[in-house]
Amino acid sequence: PDPAGLPAGCAFAERCAVAESRCHSEQPVLLTSPGGGPRHLAACFVAERGGEITAPEEGTGHVRKAEQTATKALLEVRDLRVDVGSRRRGLFGREPAVYAVDSVSLTVESGRTLGLVGESGCGKSTLSRALVGINKIAGGTVEVEGQDVTAMEEPERERVRSHVQYLFQDPYASLNPRRTIRQSLAEALALSGVRGAEQETRARELMRQVGLRDDHLDRYPHAFSGGQRQRIGIARALARQPHVLILDEPVSALDVSVQAQIINLLEEIQDELGVGYLFIAHDLSVVRHLSDTVAVMYLGRIVEDGPAEAVYANPQHPYTAALLSASPSPVPGEREGESGRERIVLGGDLPSPAAPPSGCRFRTRCPIGPLVNRERTVCKEKDPQLTAAGDGQRAACHFPGELAATTSR
Ligand code: SF4
Ligand code: SF4
Repeated sequence: PDPAGLPAGCAFAERCAVAESRCHSEQPVLLTSPGGGPRHLAACFVAERGGEITAPEEGTGHVRKAEQTATKALLEVRDLRVDVGSRRRGLFGREPAVYAVDSVSLTVESGRTLGLVGESGCGKSTLSRALVGINKIAGGTVEVEGQDVTAMEEPERERVRSHVQYLFQDPYASLNPRRTIRQSLAEALALSGVRGAEQETRARELMRQVGLRDDHLDRYPHAFSGGQRQRIGIARALARQPHVLILDEPVSALDVSVQAQIINLLEEIQDELGVGYLFIAHDLSVVRHLSDTVAVMYLGRIVEDGPAEAVYANPQHPYTAALLSASPSPVPGEREGESGRERIVLGGDLPSPAAPPSGCRFRTRCPIGPLVNRERTVCKEKDPQLTAAGDGQRAACHFPGELAATTSR
């Protein structure tokens, strides 16, 4: 709630799953409760009388459309390369190319979410920024609804690219602190040709669509919480009427309680508008709820992709298996080992893209590669390509599926 206009009753009532009528008119005070110890106090009427407090299940509040309607490819990336340069001098004094993103292909479909996962520095943000024109593309093609933007000239390229919008991890950094929300939305709406009275109507609609009050339009970004600012970021992205949204770690900076709200909001918007999402995260557990397909990235390459269910149930690449084993369990209260899932600890750091290991790029950290199985010299000699493995997945590994048994649940 707005701190300047606190409700008459319990300040948590609007968000409380077990609120009762009394909660909206009386304020609870800190007291001991039958369920707690002598020094354990809670300001809650339900706790006070020893009632049961059950947390709502994650993801409640929105039921996804049972049947996905027919999908179409909105964003198709083929063999994309993004060169980040190098300070090393090559033969004849030219700088050799360093590909932070190397031969990456992926597809984002309407009304569906592709989760792109990998640890920090793997190239996922470099890739996504190249898709909206922030980073320069060194090779490959990017098609937006069948139109190759890499072959276009301005302003046509910008026009087509505007169908793909980017949502930053930190919405505060992307909002001008000196502009009111109305001004920020007006700017985005004007870029889409919406002006005058229609602009005001649309700004109000957008605020309601992202769960904010339209009387907040005259506030500045600092007056909002992190979750509210991310809602404003979503509203501003929607003002451009995108067909694809690139969500770059959109909930990583938010409190856990707010993360689920933003994920639910993104689901609702996707169901309503049929937008395709490219959802970037460093943790597989974050994209689990929303993703239809998943691509796992390591050192600039996709090492596994496929239907989300199959990737989570039966990872084929040892890097995916390691990421999954490090993810928090989706089962509340379940600790490591109780699900039969062993934690796979990867040694070493991500190598530099300027000097990737020979053969398989993951071999310097792989728990089943030549580090532990010295006879697996093929991993040093031959670069594994993405090939069919598991249940509809593809994996870039000479020994796919070997670690799946220890990570599946
Ligand atoms: S049940 Fe407890 S926490 Fe919830 S609204 Fe009532 S007093 Fe507040
Ligand atoms: S190819 Fe070899 S080093 Fe690479 S992931 Fe597979 S087993 Fe590990």
